[in-house]
Amino acid sequence: MKRSTGIRAKAFVAGLLALAAQLSFADSAPAAADTIYLNARIYTVNPDQPWAEAVAIRDGRFVHVGDRAGAETYRGPATTVVDLQGNMVMPGINDAHVHAQRGGVKSLYECNFPFSSTPEQIARRVAECVAENPDLLWIRGGQWDSGFFDTYDMESPRAFLDAVSGDKAVLLNDDSNHNGWVNSRALALAGIDRDTPDPSDGTIVRDPVTGEPNGLLLEGAEQRVSDQLPEWSQAELQAGAREALRIANSFGITGLKEAYSEPHAMAAFQALEAADALTAHLALGIQTPYGHRTGPLDYAAIDEQRDQYASDGLHTAFVKVFMDGVPTASRTAAMLAPYTSEHDHSEPNRGMLHLDPELLTRDVIELDKRGYTVKIHTAGDRSVRVALDAIAAAREANGHSGLRHELAHAGYIDPEDVPRFAQLDAVADLSPYLWHPSPIIDSVVAAVGSPRGEQYFPVRSLLEAKAPILAGSDWPAAVETIDPWLGIEALVTRQDPRGNFPGSFWPEQAISLGDALQIMTLGGARAMRLEQTTGSIEVGKSADMIVLDRDLFAIEPQEISQVRVLRTLFAGNTVYITSSAEE
Ligand SMILES: [Zn+2]
Repeated sequence: MKRSTGIRAKAFVAGLLALAAQLSFADSAPAAADTIYLNARIYTVNPDQPWAEAVAIRDGRFVHVGDRAGAETYRGPATTVVDLQGNMVMPGINDAHVHAQRGGVKSLYECNFPFSSTPEQIARRVAECVAENPDLLWIRGGQWDSGFFDTYDMESPRAFLDAVSGDKAVLLNDDSNHNGWVNSRALALAGIDRDTPDPSDGTIVRDPVTGEPNGLLLEGAEQRVSDQLPEWSQAELQAGAREALRIANSFGITGLKEAYSEPHAMAAFQALEAADALTAHLALGIQTPYGHRTGPLDYAAIDEQRDQYASDGLHTAFVKVFMDGVPTASRTAAMLAPYTSEHDHSEPNRGMLHLDPELLTRDVIELDKRGYTVKIHTAGDRSVRVALDAIAAAREANGHSGLRHELAHAGYIDPEDVPRFAQLDAVADLSPYLWHPSPIIDSVVAAVGSPRGEQYFPVRSLLEAKAPILAGSDWPAAVETIDPWLGIEALVTRQDPRGNFPGSFWPEQAISLGDALQIMTLGGARAMRLEQTTGSIEVGKSADMIVLDRDLFAIEPQEISQVRVLRTLFAGNTVYITSSAEE
């Protein structure tokens, strides 16, 4: 009897416990997810939980990252469940130095041809563009590679274009976007003839016999023609921005930081946001004048532009300042040691700073105080040093504002300056998409000289010194595509990802795949000041992730650039999917 009472009492207690468990389960049962992705190999870029197999997403954010059983607890009657069949998943990529809208406009409306095009291919393409655009006066496009006119002997580049361009004016840019190839009509519209002197910052290349401009315009001389081009309409700019987002998403990009953006370009992004068509996080840098400047920036005008275009989806507290040019054959980046001389008798040339160091310091202190992240174009080791000094002065004047200012294209860094990036929390803004064996790199090494020329892009030294790093494509300025997989492969191999140019470039500076992925995801998110929002797959963050056709950690590094994105999610929505991945 006693015994049976005991059993009944035990059963009663067990029942109570079960009920209590049920109640508490009902209490804490998670609200159903919108979507669950299962059966994936998820590389999170979160060091506390590097790998997961499932995620649950609600209202555009991750609510679960971990195992399948945990994800299943978020399954409700309306939840979509997607089986990713073991594919690799990682966070969306952030391209933190790009001119995406410009790239979109260029791909839609310009006369484009591959960098590797021959004269015959270019002639055919220009003739096509002329035929397709009867109403246009100007045909603009590109790009021919830096060595094009060394490879192909052309008596008159101008006459070559005249033969295929009818009554149109033609401007074709090179792969650096600093130099132009034009026809007679373009020269006439820009008012350039045999009597026009070279501008102080450029060269009108001339026929050695007749002295007539031969159609090649270098640096500032090209500017005289590009100034003649009509402005893009607001409709074209919006279409370009849309096209840029479409292309970016197809490569797995969910964050773009426009190095600089003019007001009419920001307006185009604003219109897209109003149409609910932003499919990436966007940081837009405010443009400041290029070239030599003697007075401080107009800070009130910068504030006005920031405030006019800032919104939930557009982050505008960024400014771009130019300190120098490029270390290619034009020798315009500011270097600590002289370039190789072009002629035996020429004076030692260290390039040129656009701004007096005191002026830069004044701008950086003030912009830091006003809450801007400043991206400083510093392509030479001397401009790098001057920019680090300016950031040091801002830290001195304002304390650490929390703003990580950036040194763009900082390929040449004196070894003494490498530790200063971490000390000052300054970011090295690198272009691995471009910095591998190629004609541009040959031209850089030839101008800077050996062995200094080869000591370019010390990414491993920077990582070991704990420097913050971001990477950007700079598309379409100097690369043909925004494709980030080329940049990732180049970071890991230091070789030409396309395999066209042999050898490896300073291979000691190669880094691991894990470090490269961290730079391309979280490094970019930090540069956009969105590291709390995106850049890794973590509960609470925006559901920005991509599904790949192969496991990056299981393939040869030389195969990375062949990776294809099967699906891109931005804030939980599928913004790109290949037809083969459609459920
Ligand atoms: Zn750029």
